[in-house]
Order: sequence, then structure tokens, then C-alpha cells
Amino acid sequence: MESKCTIISTGMKSSEPLAVDLTDEPPSISEALSESHYFIPQPVTRFSNTSRIPLSSRSLSFMQEFFPGATPSDWANWQWQIRNSIITLENIGRIIHLNEDETSAIMQHAGGVPLRITPYYASLLSRDNPSQAIRKSVIPVMGEYISSPCEAEDPLSEDEQSPVSGLVHRYPDRVLFLTTGFCSTYCRYCTRSRMVGNNNRFRGSISQWHNAIAYIENTPAVRDVLISGGDPLTLPDSQLEYLLGSIARIPHVEMIRLGTKVPVVLPQRITPKLIRILKRFRPLWMSIHFTHPDELTPETAAACNLLADAGIPMGSQTVLLKGINDDVNILKSLYHGLLRIRVRPYYLYQCDPILGSSHFRTSVAKGLEMIEGLRGHTTGYAIPQYVIDAPGGGGKIPLLPNYFQGYDNGDIVLRNYEHKMFRYPDSLPAGL
Ligand code: SF4
Repeated sequence: MESKCTIISTGMKSSEPLAVDLTDEPPSISEALSESHYFIPQPVTRFSNTSRIPLSSRSLSFMQEFFPGATPSDWANWQWQIRNSIITLENIGRIIHLNEDETSAIMQHAGGVPLRITPYYASLLSRDNPSQAIRKSVIPVMGEYISSPCEAEDPLSEDEQSPVSGLVHRYPDRVLFLTTGFCSTYCRYCTRSRMVGNNNRFRGSISQWHNAIAYIENTPAVRDVLISGGDPLTLPDSQLEYLLGSIARIPHVEMIRLGTKVPVVLPQRITPKLIRILKRFRPLWMSIHFTHPDELTPETAAACNLLADAGIPMGSQTVLLKGINDDVNILKSLYHGLLRIRVRPYYLYQCDPILGSSHFRTSVAKGLEMIEGLRGHTTGYAIPQYVIDAPGGGGKIPLLPNYFQGYDNGDIVLRNYEHKMFRYPDSLPAGL
């Protein structure tokens, strides 16, 4: 249904690609699946597009105030959400009261990660408090323009470890498949800020996909493909289905993972049709990018529960961010909430040193303090692995507080969460 918005005009520039630029329609993959060794073919069923994501009272009143011409069915339509995303100073300034710093940062913006926020996610932002955690994660500030010597455009050297465009091969048995440079909402601290939202730097295309798929086909060591971006769940269903089918048919690929923030910023995208597509490619795992407990809304809970009911295992990936979630109680609240919606906290990332990230980065000691405050104090499932993605392309390196205290007379000496010391016999008696 067409929007009749009268206050917020459509945020979509006509020249901006919604997703991958496919010059022709993807071919059918219905036969391909039967060739897969690992993926269980599921029957193709008729798709329904009826949203099962609730319209919360918060969303409703926000929609009525800022999109008075829109209907609940507009709001529930993920493409309406993308078309009406907030991308201009004028529009965001009508929704929240920008302070001087935010206003200057948006006015000066050129290149880099653009401003883009779905109406749904905008409804979660505080109007008057620039210190609100999730507001800081999506609204530019002048700190973005301050770079320090340790920062880099591509600190993880993904471009150097890219054997073909759009694919990163860092670890022996798995690859990262970059599908698109588009996200429905852009995070200011994005590791891939060099390429997201910037069409000149990364523009997915069907030929690029084909080259990446051919690389996987010709590399038998690859058993795990992580599909990411940008956000792959912003792709149209037909493209996503084509990509999943093309990867699933490769005999040595055992599993697919999808990295996405869509259930958090655009839960309306989790449609019955999408669920049915995803279910056809088991085993498919989903890594969801959560940041703060303010993101745990009825809409996001419904999206995650739909995915869980469909048998899709979900983990969360959270970047540790200064003044946003670097507090044990905030993380505990987030992780408890995630377990309630069947999402397992998976990684807590030290923030990558991208250009202009110093206002987001904490010390590593702060990250260890988070784990110290969780381990032993809550359910083990609620504790993610704290990792640094090593600058230079060294991969994820896990970090733990100093529970291991050393060796003593054949024992190892251990410290528990209460700072009590224990010994474990690490050597067996002679002869055994
Ligand atoms: S959703 Fe992911 S890829 Fe997109 S801006 Fe945020 S961190 Fe970057």
C-alpha cells in the first residue's frame, strides 16, 4: 500500500540501490538442492506475506505522530520501512531534538557511513536525551571526524584477505561472503564503514556473487560460509533464496551462517515467506547484532521467536561500546533478555579501531571487567566469549580474566569468581 505520509517524506533516494544490482532474474534453484550432501531439501510451499510482528503501542503512537498518512499494514511492511527510512537532517530533526554536536556532524557528513534509520528503530530513540545508548549508536557526532594514529579504514585487513571481490578467506575452513553494502540502519561504529552505504566502494552484483560462489566451489576446505554485508536480510527474497541455494548445493559446504541486524532494526522483515525460505536451507545459523537492552521490544521478541520456532539457531554479537553498553548490569540485562527470546549471547567484541572510533572504544580492561562481572554471577549461557578481532587480519582472539594463576608442584592454581583460590592436580602419578 502506498504511504500517505505528510510529515516525513520518503527517505529513499531514487538513485540508491535497495540491494544487489541484479541485471537478470536469478535462475531457479529447486533442482540444485537435491544435489546437496548436507542440506536437507524442504518442500516448496506457497508463501504468505502477512506479517506476524505485532504493532506495539509505542510504534503506533510514533507512526500516528510522524507518519500520519501511514496505516498499520504500511508499518508492518519491511519495504515501506526501508522506503521511509530517515536519511536527512531535516527528517531526523523532526523526530528528535538534535543538539549542536549532532547537528554539526550530520551537516558535515560526506562519504563514510551515511545516516539511515528505519522508522521502527527511530521510534526507540529518545527525543531529548543525546546520551541515550541506542541514540548514540546511530546518530552521528563530531567524534566521528577525529582519527587517531592507531586507527585504519580496514583494520582487520579484510581487503588483503579477499581472494575474489566480495569474499574474505581468513580461516582455513570458512569464508565471509559480502553480499551487499546496504543496511536498513547504519551503526556509527561499523567495522565495514569503508564499504557500507558507499556505492563507489562496494556494490554487490550477480557476477561478483558468481565469482565468490565459484571460489567456494573450487576450495574444498571451505565447510562454513558466513553471509554478511552490509545486511543480507535487506536483499529481496528471490535474491536471498538464489544465493542460499547456490551455496547450499556445493557438496563440501556443511553449514551457512547469516550475520544480520535486521531482527533488531527491521523486525518486520521476518515475514512468513522469509522464514520458509530460510527453513529450506538447514543447517542455517543466524548471528544477530544486538547492542543494548532497549532493543528488546515486543517486535524484536516476535521476530526472534518466529526464527526460533522455525528451528533456526541464533547467537548474538555485541560490540562493547563506551557509554553505550560498557556496564555489567546493562550487558546482563541484555543477555538475560536475549535468552528469554532464545538468542544465545555468542561474542562480545572489543570495538575495532576503524577511523573515527575513539569515542566508542573502551579499554580492554573494561571488557575483562564485563566478563568478570558475568562469569559466576549468571547463567553460563548468558556469557559470551569476549574477543579482539586482531588488527592486521589475525582473527578473533579470546580474552579471559586471569582465572589461571599458574603452576605449583604439579597443580594448577585457579581463581574463582569470588576470588577464592583452588588447586587442580594437573599431573598424573608416575605409572598411570
Ligand atoms: S548492521 Fe552491521 S554492517 Fe550494517 S552498519 Fe551496522 S555493523 Fe555495519
